[in-house]
Amino acid sequence: MRKKFICGNWKMNKTVEEAVLFANEFRQIYMPVANRKVAVAAPFTALFSLKLCFEGSGVGVGAQNMHFEDSGAFTGEISAPMLKEIGVDYVIIGHSERRQYFGETDETVNKKLKKALEAGLGPIVCVGESLEQREAGTQFDLVGAQVKAAFEGVVAEDIEKITLAYEPIWAIGTGRTATAEQAQEMCAFIRKTAANIYGAETAEKLTIQYGGSVKPSNAAELLTQPDIDGALVGGASLKPADFWGIINY
Ligand code: PEP
Repeated sequence: MRKKFICGNWKMNKTVEEAVLFANEFRQIYMPVANRKVAVAAPFTALFSLKLCFEGSGVGVGAQNMHFEDSGAFTGEISAPMLKEIGVDYVIIGHSERRQYFGETDETVNKKLKKALEAGLGPIVCVGESLEQREAGTQFDLVGAQVKAAFEGVVAEDIEKITLAYEPIWAIGTGRTATAEQAQEMCAFIRKTAANIYGAETAEKLTIQYGGSVKPSNAAELLTQPDIDGALVGGASLKPADFWGIINY
């Protein structure tokens, strides 16, 4: 059975001091829930401190990006071995904000996914359509193409290590959540796309999150859908009580 995986995405928020404060507050209210995994993806600067703060709690720590090379002349970048060295568990790859503002492409997403797997980091690969694409009815073509491109050259044995996050761009940070039906429909389509490549048995092992304005009040409806295995949570992961409310939906 797939576990539900709830991961916070802090984006460019929280200094080290603020991250430590969050971790200390969160540890006071957090209790592990059976068959649920929890992690927080924080800015690079806070990762090492957060790892120490969450030690023994079962809460994982993730980065929000990485480079696909191990080292070299890539000023300003961080590599998978660097993240691994400080104990980072997960890495978000291809978030729509990185695709939109920082030139992330399906090709770089694929390279980063393969590097993360090689390094032993748990990749969280983001896909999702824009409002224009949904209104034009092209969302399935677009997301299907993103998933296939991400999986290019990835072997079936690695599928159970990957989390695919379906994040419709029109629902990110807008307060406008996809309905449970819309989210389930696309997550089922993503699993079918994976099944077409790897077979149904392997596709059943793929963890698929929904992301886009998830909050305590809508978490249960979304997270009880059969193909939604968790949530990638932006704004509501910044406050310990709200994040816990989602984990404990
Ligand atoms: C995100 O950025 O991954 C996200 C889902 O943001 P929010 O929850 O704020 O919509």
